[in-house]
Order: sequence, then C-alpha cells, then structure tokens
Amino acid sequence: MHISHRQHFFNHLAQTSDYPLALEIERAEGVYMYGTDGKRYLDLISGIGVSSVGHRHPEVLKAIHDQLEKHMHLLVYGEFVQGTQVQLAKALSDTLDVQTSYPSPFGLIDNVYFTNSGTEAVEGAMKLAKRYTGRSGFISCFNAYHGATQGALSLSGSEWFKKSFRPLLPGITNIKHGLIEDLDKITEKTAAVIIEIVGAESGIRIASNEYIIALRKRCTETGTLLILDEVQTGYGRTGTFWAFEQYGIYPDIVLSAKGMGGGMPIGAFMASQKLMGVLKTNPILGHITTFGGHPVSCASALAALQITLNEDLSSQATAKGELIKTLLVHPRIKEVRGKGLMLAAEMESFEKLKETIDKCIELGVVTDWFLFCDNSMRIAPPLTITEDQIREGCDVILTALDTI
Ligand code: PMP
Repeated sequence: MHISHRQHFFNHLAQTSDYPLALEIERAEGVYMYGTDGKRYLDLISGIGVSSVGHRHPEVLKAIHDQLEKHMHLLVYGEFVQGTQVQLAKALSDTLDVQTSYPSPFGLIDNVYFTNSGTEAVEGAMKLAKRYTGRSGFISCFNAYHGATQGALSLSGSEWFKKSFRPLLPGITNIKHGLIEDLDKITEKTAAVIIEIVGAESGIRIASNEYIIALRKRCTETGTLLILDEVQTGYGRTGTFWAFEQYGIYPDIVLSAKGMGGGMPIGAFMASQKLMGVLKTNPILGHITTFGGHPVSCASALAALQITLNEDLSSQATAKGELIKTLLVHPRIKEVRGKGLMLAAEMESFEKLKETIDKCIELGVVTDWFLFCDNSMRIAPPLTITEDQIREGCDVILTALDTI
C-alpha cells in the first residue's frame, strides 16, 4: 500500500510558491515519471533542464554505484587527488578545447572549480572576476536569472524579484539581451559581463551571432571578463555541447550545473589556468567549499558527459527541437521559439497557459512556465526522448489546447 505524503508536504515542507505542482512522484525512468497512484507522466521539462540524459540512465546508476563502492566524501575540496573528480575536470576541459574565430585573450579554458549548484558557480565566477580585474562592476541582462544567493540575486534582471531583498550588491548594471547599443555600458570599470547565449528564464531569447561577436569584442577591448552562464544551455541542450560553439566566439569563464550532474547536484565555474590561478594566493585558499565536487556527483556527471558525447545527444537535440516546432501548430500558439530542446511555446495569456498546463498534467504530460515570462510554456524534455514520445507529448498539448 502507498502512503501519501501530501499532507505533510503542505504542513512541513517550506512552501515558496502559490502554485506548487504538488504531484507525488514515486519513481522515474527515462522520460517518464510515475505517480504514487501508478499514473504515468511524460516529462517535458527534465526538472528544469536537469535530467538531460533521462531519469536514472543505467550508465549513470552504474557510475554512482561504482563510486559508492570506493569512497564518498573524503576532505574539503582540492586537498586530496580524487580520481573521479580529476577525470571529470579533464573531460570537461576536453569539451572546451574549441578553436573559434573570436578567441579569449586568456586562451583555452582548462581549469575547473566544482560547486554544488549553478548559484555557487555564479558566486565563484564573480569572486574570480573581482580578484583578477580588481574591479567591482558587473553587467547582466534584464529578465535573466543567475541564482538565489545575495550575489547571484544581485545580477538578476528582474526588479520584482530583487526588490524585497535590497540592499544587494552595488555596481550592477542591466542591459537588454541582444541589443548591440547597450554594449557601450561595458566599460573599464566592469569586472565581468554575465550572460546566457539563449536567455532561459526570460522565456527563451536567442541572441544573434552579430550581437555575441560584438559582445566578445567589447569585453576584450575594455578588459572585461566574459562569463557565459551555460547552466541551462550546456551539456548538449541547444544542439552543441556548449551553446557558444555555434557563435564562433570563446568566453573567459564558463558556468555549468543542472544537466551536468545527470540527476545529481553539481556545478562548476571554468576558466584558463592564468585566470583561475589568482584564487590560489593572497589570501591562501581564495575560495573554499566542503562538498563542491562530491565524488558521487562527479561520477554521475562524468557518465552524463560520456553519454551526451557517445550518443551524440547534441545533434539529436537539434533534430528533435525542429520536429517539435513542426508539430506544435495551433491557433492558440503564437510562436514556438528556441534552439535544440530548449523551447518556449508562446500563448495569449498566463490564464490560458495555466489552464493548458493543468490540462496537460491531467492528461499525463508535465510542462510549466518560466520565472520571468508567464505567457510561454517551457518545453525542455530529456535529450533522449524518442520521436514517438515527442509525438505523444505534442498530441497531448494540442488536445489540451482544444479543450481550454
Ligand atoms: N543560471 C541559470 C541560467 C539558471 O537557470 C539557474 C537555475 N534555474 C541558475 C543559474 C542557478 O542554478 P541553481 O538553481 O543550481 O543554483
């Protein structure tokens, strides 16, 4: 017999949303999740871009089990040589060994600092940028989300989201994602620009090639570091392992998390040894963490990386994203935008979107909206989703749209 945890969920789990989905999921496998009542749900959001290789991928499970047989946490970050952690750092560096037309003045990225989350990767990168440049100004985009803690929250481009937590960090300027004129706001006082090539929580906003190249040039000109937040776009989701590969530019710092862990918590900020080296001295231990790069998370992340490369999930993401765009045609859908399997279907209003999402869940398909865009449906399934499963999901969305 199943015991429902629903009542305790509302009574004892700190609630931070007026509308939690509150589905009680007992187990998940591949692209499907199963409720305590046995109901099957097709997962079209992957836990917000986390389960990119699907839930409980057998190779991820094996890597975790193998690591558990060896050791779990040993000592705070960076003191012991832990094989799995080092292997992952090397494998990530290999994915970043990319020649581009607009390189970074610091050369290729070959150093990885592991964190527990995307937010912590952002915090670490901010500290690195301040330390390296001796500057304190940061630039981020309106309606961007980069994390929950005070520093990362300061970068958020939503006043609505930030206002009740002020004062936050000074020296933050927001620019409009994609607007070349706004790049003049990057000056010799700016430590770093932090940006997503495809803005996620603003509802999937794709930057043009021209804009990203102009951004790279402006950063180099002003001695500003270019931090690419690839927390949602990375690990194959937009059609290449890293989204920047499609733009011919190379960043100074790359951030990763979410899909990186194959379902386990892990993140990273990555830079060249020249940049990262400033965290070593003055004071000694310039940035520290107890759990960052936990061996079990590293094992899972290494398996996810290998699956993504071996199964060529990046190119699959492009083809599958195109299929979704051709299938999701309905008078109620204004447009489907996105890259790879990072998509948004725009509707007429939040009310209609909410009704559609509720109806989809009733019909066994999980989708949701975006933090700073409430008229668009998030579509970001595991990259391993099959063509039949895509058709199943799109049919349900179209049926839901017919009934609301
Ligand atoms: N950057 C981006 C682009 C994100 O979407 C998120 C999470 N939604 C973060 C950073 C923060 O990651 P985390 O929730 O793992 O701290």
